[in-house]
Amino acid sequence: FQPERRNSEGLDLRHRPSFAALDNGRAAFRNAQWQAAPLTVAEAAPGDTEEVLNPANLGDVLGQITWASPEQARAAAAAAQPWQASPAERARILNAAADLYEANQAEIFAILHREAGKSLMDALAELREAVDFLRYYAARCQEGADSPLGTFACISPWNFPLAIFTGQLSAALAAGNAVLAKPAEQTPLIAHFATRLLHEAGVPLAALQLLPGAGDVGAVLTSCPDVDGVAFTGGTETAQIIHRSMARHLAPGAPFIAETGGLNAMIVDSTALPEQAVQAIIESAFQSAGQRCSALRCLYVQEDVAEGFLEMLKGAMQSLTVGDPWEAATDVGPVIDAEAQDGILDHVAQASREGRVLQQVSVPASGHFVPPTLIRIGGIEDLEREIFGPVLHVATYKARNLTRVIEAINGTGYGLTFGLMTRIDERVQQITESIEAGNIYVNRNQIGAIVGSQPFGGEGLSGTGPKAGGPLYLDRFRAHPAPDSTG
Ligand code: GLU
Repeated sequence: FQPERRNSEGLDLRHRPSFAALDNGRAAFRNAQWQAAPLTVAEAAPGDTEEVLNPANLGDVLGQITWASPEQARAAAAAAQPWQASPAERARILNAAADLYEANQAEIFAILHREAGKSLMDALAELREAVDFLRYYAARCQEGADSPLGTFACISPWNFPLAIFTGQLSAALAAGNAVLAKPAEQTPLIAHFATRLLHEAGVPLAALQLLPGAGDVGAVLTSCPDVDGVAFTGGTETAQIIHRSMARHLAPGAPFIAETGGLNAMIVDSTALPEQAVQAIIESAFQSAGQRCSALRCLYVQEDVAEGFLEMLKGAMQSLTVGDPWEAATDVGPVIDAEAQDGILDHVAQASREGRVLQQVSVPASGHFVPPTLIRIGGIEDLEREIFGPVLHVATYKARNLTRVIEAINGTGYGLTFGLMTRIDERVQQITESIEAGNIYVNRNQIGAIVGSQPFGGEGLSGTGPKAGGPLYLDRFRAHPAPDSTG
């Protein structure tokens, strides 16, 4: 039984009256300020207060954040109470929260632009995905046995500060658990705003507590015996640290649901339609300033067509507009903070010293911008780590070496997304069967999985599964009685 559910309709930005209504709505929040703080039933004192700055314009202070303290996190975990409502009531409240998210679209967009550097397209996609997660898990929670596990720590990333934040906690709540949500340090304001809407819709405070904080708060949540499971999206190394901490301190078998990084590749063969492939590559590598774990990092182009193809790609890069994410014309916004910017620019500078930069787009002089850059490499094995920004690496391959290319891609140990551009059906079958990746895309871009139709998640170093937005996800947030050993 699958209760009626539809994905969010979003907004058609080409429809002038709709765009004008959104733009007028956003204007009220151009210089607004927001406050964020822990939302908890615990009575311990919070930590320090700091200003939140816009990564595109460091003079734009958009609010204050009061951090949770580790003591507060411990007290919140002890006081957490699984959500007692029936599945139907939980579904009703999560659907009401989805409606509130949509009703607050203009303010949500403003926070996403100014706190997370999200372009208009990114903000639109992000809000839709968040709403879809709420409605999807609301529909799903009425299936299967209702057996909440207890208390979940949900540790979410800054790159989808609304969608992934909401996806994790709505799954845990839909299954009847209590949630301790720790959003990324870079994006506390949107997390606080969303949590207020969830409470307004009817989620009890003891079932959903917000603990904005840094690693010290995360460390409490992943080592506290009051926590029964952890959902995490972020870097592979952090996932490994969390996993070790859980093994030492949490009950054996406590679920760990991790979605981590990737070294995602795309293969373009000589039969691909160049215009279509270029468009898909631009979106996959540069949308969200490359700050998606699904983003394309390493492009393989068949040698026979590479020269002309790369000229087209370089031309298309030149038409990208990099700038203030508030502006509708902006394709690529800033990266999230100075640390991210420095790390990516170091990588680009190294490639530049080695004469491997093929194209670079100009960017505003201030703010945390990184030029969209195309770098030549020998193959994916040259990439030592995931470069989480608007940097695309390209290698060429000879048709007879296709198998070796696939081995090299599988050899990274990651397995998140993969793209293929070809017009040969047998090749689609051959390659998609041998590539080890959670999400494979053929003749389209390789980002932007859709809740309910393209469950998203990776294998190997890219995550534990189950896939978010898919039918198996909720089950990991439920208790599974041990099989009766007496038979
Ligand atoms: N689900 C997103 C996509 O399909 C990526 C999520 C992430 O970057 O963590 O593009």
